[in-house]
Amino acid sequence: MADIIQLLPDHVANQIAAGEVVQRPASVVKELLENAIDAGATSIKLIIKDAGKTLVQVIDNGKGMSVTDARLSFERHATSKIKTADDLFKLNTKGFRGEALASIAAIAHVELKTKQDHEDVGTCIVIEGSTVISQEVVVTPKGTSISVKNLFFNIPARRNFLKSNTVETRHIIDEFHRVALAHPNISFVMFHNGSETFNLPESNYRQRIVNIFGIKTNEKLVPVNEDTEVLQISGFVGKPEFAKKTRGEQFFFVNNRFIKSAYLNHAIGSAFEGLLKDGAHASYFLNLTVNPQTIDINIHPTKTEIKFDDEHTLYAILRSSVKHSLGQFNIAPVLDFERDANLDTPYSYQQKGTPSIEVDSNFNPFREDQQASNIATSYRKPTAASWEGLYVGLESKGTQTQQDFSEVHFESNSKNESFFDNDNQVEQKQSTYQFHNKYIVSTIKSGLLLIDQHRAHQRILYENFLKNMTIKEAMSQQLLFPLALHFSPQEIEIINQLKTDLEHAGFIFQAIKDELVEISGVPVSVPESEVSIILEQLISDVENEVPDSNFSATDLLAKSLAKSLAIKTGQSLTILEQEHLVNSLFACKEPNVSPTNKATFITMTVDALDRKFV
Ligand code: ADP
Ligand code: MG
Repeated sequence: MADIIQLLPDHVANQIAAGEVVQRPASVVKELLENAIDAGATSIKLIIKDAGKTLVQVIDNGKGMSVTDARLSFERHATSKIKTADDLFKLNTKGFRGEALASIAAIAHVELKTKQDHEDVGTCIVIEGSTVISQEVVVTPKGTSISVKNLFFNIPARRNFLKSNTVETRHIIDEFHRVALAHPNISFVMFHNGSETFNLPESNYRQRIVNIFGIKTNEKLVPVNEDTEVLQISGFVGKPEFAKKTRGEQFFFVNNRFIKSAYLNHAIGSAFEGLLKDGAHASYFLNLTVNPQTIDINIHPTKTEIKFDDEHTLYAILRSSVKHSLGQFNIAPVLDFERDANLDTPYSYQQKGTPSIEVDSNFNPFREDQQASNIATSYRKPTAASWEGLYVGLESKGTQTQQDFSEVHFESNSKNESFFDNDNQVEQKQSTYQFHNKYIVSTIKSGLLLIDQHRAHQRILYENFLKNMTIKEAMSQQLLFPLALHFSPQEIEIINQLKTDLEHAGFIFQAIKDELVEISGVPVSVPESEVSIILEQLISDVENEVPDSNFSATDLLAKSLAKSLAIKTGQSLTILEQEHLVNSLFACKEPNVSPTNKATFITMTVDALDRKFV
């Protein structure tokens, strides 16, 4: 039989290998920025068009390349950064695999211009899909400029696989943040579609964080510094009261390289234990310095995971120094060991009859910051009153319920009474029953109905919001004192995009400024204390285009609000509330699925049950 094994042609091998290095425009951004840093640049400019799909360009003022090096840099395994495998353990550079440029050139149109300081002229190379189109002498400033156009032009499947511009831009900005945070001593500028999105001058670490995440970040930062034999830590953690619901600002850098580590993240989490509200995530910006010989960064092609020799020790040091910092800055004593246990449950229906109003005696509406800190405290103590607000979404309460309910034709429960007879909690007329604080059981003519309370409520709220936004007649509740909420410039941009829809949903904006949003009215169903969390969630949903990228902003907004506001699994509901929920669900247009297309209820017919008992 004839031989069948053949070597893949170079360009095919390069394309395959490229898949490992370049998953999306953001991967190109990362590789090019890292190369610029390795070249000793002090000033780096990133230019993006169409979320990097049309252009990613990085211009640096680093050491440049010689004519030969410029050509060689596009060869696979061509690197100036290691010579022997041993060098891997002494790495001070970001790159070392010599794969990035070869990979990028295999799947895009690349133009490189580079000049070394002592030369008069530089080199320009054009490569398209691994083929060198031209190489010539060019007049260009000291340093290197690489532009990458039409990414994946020769792999349409890959190109089609890219997400929307919003999502791809988000990934690019994430990479940009990581690199910029790791190198505050380098100045960075980023342009997207012709406008400047970041301008980060050379600065110290704290200023860099503030320049990226907004001026308000400054007061949230608690310094962490530790110097031990095996590990040095410097950086900041966010004060617990500013912790976010979404895992946004969490950065570990090991020897100036951004890394992800669930294990070290856990160490921070445990240092914050007891200080964070459920579901909130601490933010941190921490630089760890360890001996390069004690880590192995080679285990992952995109190099965000590393292996430490002695993880346990690092964990312990990290945890204790963060704890120490929190204590030193008087944050730990916030812990109140004697608080009422009732306050820990989001809903306590014993209190329901007498909603109490908390009066903050220090409250002074004329003090600028008061609102913000006021919100922070109200997160910690959900009162009965604030909870009630959640339920307003189900329109009126109480009196009307019984009457509405009759329209759904539920079977009378009188026949089952023997089952529940000994349970005096259950009222005679009860037609619903909640179990595991998660499902509501009811009976219908043909059998049993099992409703998922969280999904059902999402459906109800979703249709409500959608209706309000479409008819543009949402009811707003005016706030006594406008809320002033702080956001980063990017977040502000998203809020601006959604402004009209938010207004249709019932939000009233007094002003949207650089980093500040003033809100004077909110939808009736939205408790004031939740506004900031809801907007945060919304922004993160838009950024990730959860749940699906093909929906309109209105739809996304309705979904996000419904998700934030819906009663959660684990919340106990009174019988009235259960009935109201069931009733409102079946008044919906599409009662059987949640806004994200998951079943809201299942039925079990008597027949099916009978069969189980044979
Ligand atoms: P690696 O960074 O792993 O060495 P790359 O493919 O990213 O591999 O780059 C190959 C080589 O090209 C680098 O080792 C470096 O010598 C050179 N190079 C790449 N980008 C630049 C730049 N911006 N300035 C100077 N030299 C560069
Ligand atoms: Mg590189």
